[in-house]
Amino acid sequence: MRTPQASSTPSTPLDSQPPGDTRVQVLLPLPLREPYDYRVPPGLKLQPGDYVEVPLGPRRIPGVVWGEGRGVVDSGRLRAVVRRFDLSPMPEVQRRFIDWVANYTMTMPGLVLKMAVSVPTALEPPRPDIAYRRNGSPPPPGFKLTEARRRLLARLDDGQARTAAELAEAAGCGVAVVRGLVEAGMLEPVMLPPTRLPRPEWSQPGPILSSDQQAAADALRLRVAARAYATVLLDGVTGSGKTEVYYEAIAACLEQGRQVLVLLPEIALSAQWLARFARRFGAPPAEWHSDLTAAVRRDTWRAVAQGEVRVLVGARSALFLPYKDLGLIIVDEEHDAAYKQEESPIYQARDMAVVRAHQGGVPIVLVSATPALETQVNADSNRYSRIHLPGRHGGAMLPDVKLIDLRIDRPPSRHWLAPSLRKALTEALAQGEQAMLFLNRRGYAPLTLCRACGHRLQCPNCTAWLVEHRHNRTLQCHHCGLGQPLPKACPNCLETGTLAACGPGVERIAEEVTELFPEARAAIMASDTLSGPRAIQEMIRQIADHELDIIIGTQVMAKGHHFPMLTLVGVVDADLGLTGGDLRAGERTYQLLHQVAGRAGRGERPGTVYLQTCMPEYPVMQALAAGDRDGFYQLEAEMRQEAAMPPFGRLAALIVSGTDQALVERAAMALGRAAPRSDTVTILGPAPAPLALLRGRHRRRLLLKAPRSTPVQALITQWLEQVEIPPAVRVQVDIDPYSFL
Ligand code: ADP
Ligand code: ZN
Repeated sequence: MRTPQASSTPSTPLDSQPPGDTRVQVLLPLPLREPYDYRVPPGLKLQPGDYVEVPLGPRRIPGVVWGEGRGVVDSGRLRAVVRRFDLSPMPEVQRRFIDWVANYTMTMPGLVLKMAVSVPTALEPPRPDIAYRRNGSPPPPGFKLTEARRRLLARLDDGQARTAAELAEAAGCGVAVVRGLVEAGMLEPVMLPPTRLPRPEWSQPGPILSSDQQAAADALRLRVAARAYATVLLDGVTGSGKTEVYYEAIAACLEQGRQVLVLLPEIALSAQWLARFARRFGAPPAEWHSDLTAAVRRDTWRAVAQGEVRVLVGARSALFLPYKDLGLIIVDEEHDAAYKQEESPIYQARDMAVVRAHQGGVPIVLVSATPALETQVNADSNRYSRIHLPGRHGGAMLPDVKLIDLRIDRPPSRHWLAPSLRKALTEALAQGEQAMLFLNRRGYAPLTLCRACGHRLQCPNCTAWLVEHRHNRTLQCHHCGLGQPLPKACPNCLETGTLAACGPGVERIAEEVTELFPEARAAIMASDTLSGPRAIQEMIRQIADHELDIIIGTQVMAKGHHFPMLTLVGVVDADLGLTGGDLRAGERTYQLLHQVAGRAGRGERPGTVYLQTCMPEYPVMQALAAGDRDGFYQLEAEMRQEAAMPPFGRLAALIVSGTDQALVERAAMALGRAAPRSDTVTILGPAPAPLALLRGRHRRRLLLKAPRSTPVQALITQWLEQVEIPPAVRVQVDIDPYSFL
């Protein structure tokens, strides 16, 4: 809690104002371009960063004091701050970060703030939990001891106090029964002390590190000890001990008493990581992701702001929490596309994390076996330093990667596994080993067409085919979530029995596996066949404990799981990510398939990976087969440099959308005409987006390409100012786009 002295230090700018007219700027977590002025009522001392409640229209909402008031509105008309929340103020570095992100991503600051104060209830002090215990009083006259009341009292025979909810659950009755007994004077309330978070223990020893690992850990510890900004790329193949090494950096930061943020691309899939952390440090980290209960969210937010949470592991949104004293950031799997948030506010969490570290003067470690090309180039040019772990820990071999040329080694018709892959599967199963088939496509078939009239079943709201999901007999759109029963007749020609599935999804591969190996224990691992993070974790456990022989999975299972019995990985369609002309298609294919391949041979037995492809001569396939990552990156970098594409040039996209196609078209054309013209800046479009219709909105895209040094935000601001956009049309700005849909 703040002492009165602390809030009246002369250095706070708010004290420089004349008495009687103190005003502050308060930023509100709403789509607003700038903070609003409020009057500070007499007796209230405020400093920048304080969380306050202010009136807005008929409502009262929380906001953050952003600075001194500007005096544009005369003070008679100003509304007053209602109160200050009793909480550590938002640190200055966090406020600067919010402004910076808003500026860079061209998002209204209020919307960035909203990510930081995403749990308004956390601003109130936690209400102490009340528990009840027996006080020995007999039932008052006329008070009937019903069966439920007796049961409940029996639960309290041990003299312990329990909350009303616990009691009701244990006695199988409603909380009203508890209340009845309290009113009758037979139970007395007691305040429970606040639960204390278990603290990770930095001094607990880790495993004995190899000399390479030790050197890497020492280098990271030095960075933490320096308490200064540095970006370090921790680069090493899967299984080389990167996690073990960055745990040492975490321990060093904990020793300093500062907070650590660990970003993971998909925290819901990270049960193994969490369990491992708890073993290493004797206590679990705090978590931050979309799958938390409201109570956990509230407690965690507050504990982060108060500095009680020491290590927080979270998805990208965790970056915006108001850490009281953040000392280290780790971004694991830093190349992962999940770090890019594609919905407004559109931002790249890895890049913003580097900015946060820079502003806070703390080190950041980017961790990957296949760094993003951006990161790779930054390390090559010494903007980032690189720590390299050369081999797998304990001498485990990297898997042998073989290419299957589908043009020669062809699967039987309407089947998808090539003869050589079938043979390898048979052998692995005969050896009692585990196999995994990877196809990054949910459902049974990606396209359904009518054999009579050629009609293709398409989503009415999106430019996308409907995907058949046989496990629940539906057709689904993977873009808008539409789901409908599989029709019996073709909606176009009304013939029945003519609809045919085209191409495979994981369900169809599972069907083929069952046909080939009826005895094998097989299961599908995809986000829609598993009902949530729990189910995913349960399946990961089943695989790790060898309760399954063959797993057919999407990218859900490509992540860093450790499966010791898995020796064979078959990639059903290695070319899948290469279609579509995405700038990063080759890079992403390399990263994804390398990660998938990395699941094989992590235990004692060596692994083999088969990539089924129709273009084995492509550089990315050759590089995967040869294990020549650096050669591939170099080629990729040369191509990007030649085309002046990121990271050698800059891109920004405008996405114009709305439900009225003509209006969208007109706005996009107007933007095209007003586009900035210069020798160095190129504008592509407007053109219909590949997803020209998405969730019922028509979409047009413009792409701005410029040299690295161009201040694209200023350019785009000027550009947008010249065009009147009707309210029914939305223009989204995507700085450094990753998706070109
Ligand atoms: P990466 O993060 O690079 O994939 P990990 O840190 O997960 O590598 O290490 C891979 C496996 O090897 C893990 O099971 C880990 O516990 C084990 N391991 C790594 N280094 C050591 C070590 N020095 N001593 C014991 N086990 C280790
Ligand atoms: Zn759709």
